[in-house]
Amino acid sequence: MKKGSKSIPHPNISQVKIIENKNNFPISWLNKQGFCEYGIYLENVKGIEVKPTRAMVKGTTEHATLEANFREGAEPATFEEMLETSQSAEILSRELPVLSAHYGIRGFIDEVWMTPDEFVIIDDKPGTVPYYSSINQVYGYCLAFKDMVDDGRKIIGALRQRGTDNVYWSAYFDDAAEKNTINLINRVHELLLGNIEFIPTKNPNKCRRCRFNNLCDKKMDF
Ligand code: SF4
Repeated sequence: MKKGSKSIPHPNISQVKIIENKNNFPISWLNKQGFCEYGIYLENVKGIEVKPTRAMVKGTTEHATLEANFREGAEPATFEEMLETSQSAEILSRELPVLSAHYGIRGFIDEVWMTPDEFVIIDDKPGTVPYYSSINQVYGYCLAFKDMVDDGRKIIGALRQRGTDNVYWSAYFDDAAEKNTINLINRVHELLLGNIEFIPTKNPNKCRRCRFNNLCDKKMDF
């Protein structure tokens, strides 16, 4: 994002901002998109409000605890200082904000390991199943990070079981991953522009677990 660029809330779609004349959405939506696009429509376009699930509340609490523990022993530094230091030493950052006006995405990375050779972008998740929707999300962070840094160091995306050291999935953010991620992000932008329709899942198990299922006109019988 260029210095002085304004961020304006989208007039009709919640959580979307307009930055440098382009819609900008939260990277966590790539996870939601993989679960069911129609849920994004219900929540953010139609404006349906439902309570967060118990798992969501638990995740938020665990997240806050980890963050507080980290901050106790952390030394504050700017992003530029961290990049500089990591040229010669390994450092770790938590809750790192990333924003790409070019791709129209933004978010907070749970944890980044910065080493002289590579960056490891970690997203904490409940459980240990590497769902493709979770992989899409962590690759979204990798893309935004790369757009901000791109100093030749390799980038690895990783999923870690929340509250543990168990990294249960990791892979290099290579050219193929980057291309797929850009295609997916472009699809979400097309949805937001109204050029294509939000597709509901055909998986009744997802509808059974969905917090919108009482109000959804497209839910599958379960
Ligand atoms: S109830 Fe099913 S179709 Fe509707 S938003 Fe939820 S997952 Fe999607």
